[in-house]
Order: sequence, then C-alpha cells, then structure tokens
Amino acid sequence: MEANKKAVFFDRDGTLIEDKHYLKDPEQVVFFDDAIECLRSLKKSGFLIVVVSNQSGVARGMMTEQDVCRVNARFCSMAKEAGASVDAVYYCPHLETGSVAEYAIDCSCRKPKPGMAEQAAKDLGLDLSSSYMVGDKAADVLFAVNSGMKKAFLVPTGYGLREKEKTKGIDKAEAVASLREAVLKILEDASL
Ligand SMILES: [Mg+2]
Ligand SMILES: [Zn+2]
Repeated sequence: MEANKKAVFFDRDGTLIEDKHYLKDPEQVVFFDDAIECLRSLKKSGFLIVVVSNQSGVARGMMTEQDVCRVNARFCSMAKEAGASVDAVYYCPHLETGSVAEYAIDCSCRKPKPGMAEQAAKDLGLDLSSSYMVGDKAADVLFAVNSGMKKAFLVPTGYGLREKEKTKGIDKAEAVASLREAVLKILEDASL
C-alpha cells in the first residue's frame, strides 16, 4: 500500500470528549460541543480521522480492555451517527508501574512513544509527515514529534491549560484557544 494518505490524529479524553478519568461506562461518552463539526470538516477536506488513546486504567486494574473497547465502540457510533465517522481507534492499555502483570510492561505504544502512529500508518497507508495531532497533554504533542508528524496542537480542554507550559519551546507545537482553532490551522497549513 502506498503511504500517501494524510490523517489528523486525535487524543480522545479531554480533547474530543469530556475527560471522566478512567472512563469505563459507554453511557458517559460526552462529545465537546464543536468536536463533531470539527471532525466533519476535516473529513470533507480529505483527512482520515485516527484516535489514539492511552488507557492505563487497564494496567492499573481499574478497567478491562473490554471496557475500553465498549467505550470506543460507543464513541465511534455516536460520531458516525452525526456524520463524522472515525477511520481508526488505537489505545495503549499498558503502564510499566501498573498492578496487572500482563499490562505492566515498558511497551512501545504508550504516548509519547510513536507506536500507535506507526501502526496506523501501516494499517491505513498514511504519510505521517503530512499528518497532524491534536491533544490536551504534552505527551500528545511529543507523540506527534516522535512520530514525525507535521504539526501538533494543544487544546485548552482536559489537561490542556495545565500542560501548556510543558509544550513551550517544542518545535512544531502550538497551543490553541479551541478545538475549532486547531482544525482551522490544520486546514490552512495543509493548503499551503
Ligand atoms: Mg487526553
Ligand atoms: Zn502500550
């Protein structure tokens, strides 16, 4: 497969939906006001939408992979019903210091490591150097840098305001005032 498609990667909790802290109940999926509209306009402009989420609650014994998958399924069906289908969702259930042995490993998929981006690139035929990342943590921004993406945007929702200081000075990273602003900047940058 030729790797020529471009994607916008999104963090899930605190970026597209409200961060409920170790969300395991699918009924608790609440999209931020402009999230669906933002996804729609990116899709219309030819971007694939990929969600990448650290779910260390699995390694911490607070939820199972099945819980994560049920939440992701509801997340995807809500987006799809609203006309903004998500092309792929990846999650990392690991944490080196976790309490569940099976997941307590130093994996290659926990953001900021680039594992999930590399897997998505392989699965979907993506050119990461023309892809973007939007998230609410420094780990999201560094994930984009480590994956060789074009730019990363830090939103003010979730942990965004607290993490802003940590992303200062990172080349290719920009803190924006809203999800909508991130999307407008992506569309503008991609058309250059
Ligand atoms: Mg987040
Ligand atoms: Zn992992």
